Amino acid sequence: MADAAESESFRDSLGIVEKSGARKWVYPKEPKGRFTNARNAFSGILLVILFGMPFIKVNGHPFMMFDVLNRKFILFGSAFGPQDFYLLGLAMITTIVFIFLFTAVFGRLFCGWVCPQTVFMESVFRKIDYWVEGDHKAQRTLNESPWTGVKVFRKGTKYLIYFVISFLTANMLLAWIIGIDALTVIVTAPVQEHIGGFTAMMLFTGLFYWIFIWFREQACILVCPYGRLQGVLLDQNSIVIAYDNVRGEPREFLKRNTVRNAGDCIDCKECVVVCPTGIDIRNGTQLECVNCTACIDACDTVMDKIKKPRGLIRYDSVVGIKTSSRKIFTPRVIGYSVVQLVLLTLLTVFLLNRSELDVTILRTPGMFYQEQQNEMVSNLYDMKIVNKTFEPMDVEVRLLNAEGEVKLLGEKKDVPPQEAMLTKMFVLLKKDDISMMNTPLQFGIYVAGKEVHRITTSFLGPVEKKHEPSKQKKEEDRATEEHQEEGKRKAERE
Ligand code: SF4
Ligand code: SF4
Repeated sequence: MADAAESESFRDSLGIVEKSGARKWVYPKEPKGRFTNARNAFSGILLVILFGMPFIKVNGHPFMMFDVLNRKFILFGSAFGPQDFYLLGLAMITTIVFIFLFTAVFGRLFCGWVCPQTVFMESVFRKIDYWVEGDHKAQRTLNESPWTGVKVFRKGTKYLIYFVISFLTANMLLAWIIGIDALTVIVTAPVQEHIGGFTAMMLFTGLFYWIFIWFREQACILVCPYGRLQGVLLDQNSIVIAYDNVRGEPREFLKRNTVRNAGDCIDCKECVVVCPTGIDIRNGTQLECVNCTACIDACDTVMDKIKKPRGLIRYDSVVGIKTSSRKIFTPRVIGYSVVQLVLLTLLTVFLLNRSELDVTILRTPGMFYQEQQNEMVSNLYDMKIVNKTFEPMDVEVRLLNAEGEVKLLGEKKDVPPQEAMLTKMFVLLKKDDISMMNTPLQFGIYVAGKEVHRITTSFLGPVEKKHEPSKQKKEEDRATEEHQEEGKRKAERE
């Protein structure tokens, strides 16, 4: 019982916090190995995409842009706006279910390989630490040493490089939000002309600088919501970075010239000293682990040296380690997959049927019909036209199912690109053509003379006319009466 409590004691503390409660600075040893090489190469590709994407344009417009302030988004060259909110909601739900599904199968693979925090921290800033200050031991020594000329030079160089990279990263982030053209204007024009843009740039620079120079791994351990959710997203079948305790235990130091009866773990703690979150993976899956693969490479190097098979620490599930067989399609994964499929189908259908023009026509609230000259009746309508394209649109409204007139109030203008235009219009019908109080009307929306959309609404007419026969009906009735009278007279004569 006491042993069990002791073995679980690591759960009562964080690897980055001293017993006193103070922050414990982590000085991880530089990892080397096949996974680190692969991750560095992959990080390089991601950084090229991150910094290069804002420069890619399609027909003069950004390929990707996330202008959250103005609620304008460009995804793969297509513009989306506030009117596409339902798509955004659906895409978010789909993404959340995808994260659940992906994590249930592959654990925190995203954190180790794709998350910008890990990419920048481990593949950019940590490398600068090693380059400027030396290995993990030299970094600790430098930090604990008094301020000398060498320390000032090294720290100054490091802080300057950190600042430049943070500044570039802030520019890159702004380019994703406002587009490279708007960013170029901010960068090239005098500061006083772009106080807002300049302030945003400096705030982002300060934030990145603070995160990478000081906050570091705490972003993953204390702040990241995805990290906090691991406890409910993972299960025993999820593939994580795991220590094979079946093969490794009981751990024991390697002793020369003795017969070894212990497990393969020689308790060298190489997997611990490389860990950037300060944990010992041999304690099992922990929330602090960002799946950076450093401990796999460290342990593989040790296994190579002691001539044991690699993979004492590897990608595997708890069940996989216990039973040597992995089960991916668990009921939970199948359930998530079905929901994901339904959501993806819905999203695809909505995206394929999405129109580049949104038009709503509604009778102006509180308005009844108006009697006009020449026996005409009019209704007033509110019309909203949303142009989702990058070009101005010449939109025309025609009445399709009735003889009448459509009169726009004010000057007819093109709808500006990616903007909404609100206008009012009168529809006039002949009083004699109105046979009911609520007449259904159908409008055709035409762009450059081509019908692109149809809208149905209603037209209010005079109630008293509802039961009155029309002029044509009256003439028909009179003709019938005359015909009947003539018939009677003829019969009498005969
Ligand atoms: S690196 Fe491998 S052998 Fe060394 S302590 Fe870690 S698990 Fe054991
Ligand atoms: S336990 Fe291993 S994979 Fe997890 S953070 Fe530490 S070094 Fe990276």
